[in-house]
Amino acid sequence: MNAVRNERNELLAPSGSVASGMRHIIPISGKDSLAAAIIQTARQPELEYEYIYNDTRMELPDTYAWIDKVERVMGIKIIRAGKSLAKIIEEQKILPSPRARYCTKYAKIFPMRDYIGKDEATIYIGIRADEERPGAQETKNLRVKYPLKEMGVNLPLVYRLVEGKGLMPPAFFWQRIYDGVVAELGSDAWIIDELPKWIFDRTFAWRSRPNCYMCFYQRRYEWCGLLEHHPDLFTEAESIEAKNGYSENTKKHAFLWIGKDMPLSYIRENFDRIVQKRIDAVSKLLRKRLQTELFTDALFDELEAAQTSCGLYCGK
Ligand code: SF4
Repeated sequence: MNAVRNERNELLAPSGSVASGMRHIIPISGKDSLAAAIIQTARQPELEYEYIYNDTRMELPDTYAWIDKVERVMGIKIIRAGKSLAKIIEEQKILPSPRARYCTKYAKIFPMRDYIGKDEATIYIGIRADEERPGAQETKNLRVKYPLKEMGVNLPLVYRLVEGKGLMPPAFFWQRIYDGVVAELGSDAWIIDELPKWIFDRTFAWRSRPNCYMCFYQRRYEWCGLLEHHPDLFTEAESIEAKNGYSENTKKHAFLWIGKDMPLSYIRENFDRIVQKRIDAVSKLLRKRLQTELFTDALFDELEAAQTSCGLYCGK
C-alpha cells in the first residue's frame, strides 16, 4: 500500500483506500497495540490493514529500532504518521505539560485524523481486558474496536503473544537499579529470580513505557535513566527547556519538564539521591512481598498503578 503526501509534505491516506470501502487501521506503539494487531489480523485475516506509528520524531532510538524490527518480522509496512513535536513546541512557545497538554493532540491525534480524512474507517486500539481506561471517541466516519478486550486478553497473555514472536518492545533494563536492589536485599535477593518476566521488566526498567524521550509525565528516576542511557537526548531536552520554558505571555517560567521552576539541572545535581530512592522503593516492595503470599498480579498492580498514563496513542 503506497502512502501519499500533500503539497505540505503531510501524509495522506493511501491511494485507492476509499474505493475499497471501510479502512482498517491499527496504530502500533508498544506491546499492547502490537498484541492487538496480532489478534485482530488472526481473527479477520481477510481484511486489508493499515499499520500506523504516530511518530513525534522525539521517540527513543530503542523504540525506532523496535518499530523497524516489527516491520521486518511481521512482514508489514508501518506508516509513520505524526508530526514533529519539536517544531510544534517552537510554534506554541511553551513546553507541553499536564496543564498545557497539546502534544498528543497536535503531534499524534490530528495527524492521524488527517491521515484517515473523511473515509469510513475502523480503528483497532490495544486496551487490555484487565485495564480500566477510556478508549478513543467514535465519530461519524470512525468506528473503534478493542480486540484485546473483546478476546479477554490480559497482561500475561500480551506477554505470551508478543514474546512468542520475539517482538517485545525494549525492556530498558537498568543494571544500576538491579545491582542496587540485589545489594540491598542481600540474602533475600533470591526472590528476584522468582519474579514473572512482566514484573521483572517493570521493576528494573529505567523507563516505564516507550514514549517521547522528554515526556513530562516521566518520573524523576526515569529522567535519571535517560541521562545515563542517552545523555545526548537529555542534553537536547535541556536545550529545548532553556529555549521554550519561559512563557512570553506571563513573563515567568511556565511549567518546565519536571515542574514549575525546577529545571532539568535538578536531575543532574540529585542523580545519586533519586536513583537511591528508586532502589529503596523497589527493595521495599520486594521485601513486602517476601512477607506475604507468593507473587501474584497484585504486585504488578502496585507498580502499574504508580505509573502516570500519557494517553491512548503514547506508547502502549
Ligand atoms: S509521550 Fe508524553 S510528550 Fe509525547 S505526546 Fe505523549 S504525553 Fe506528550
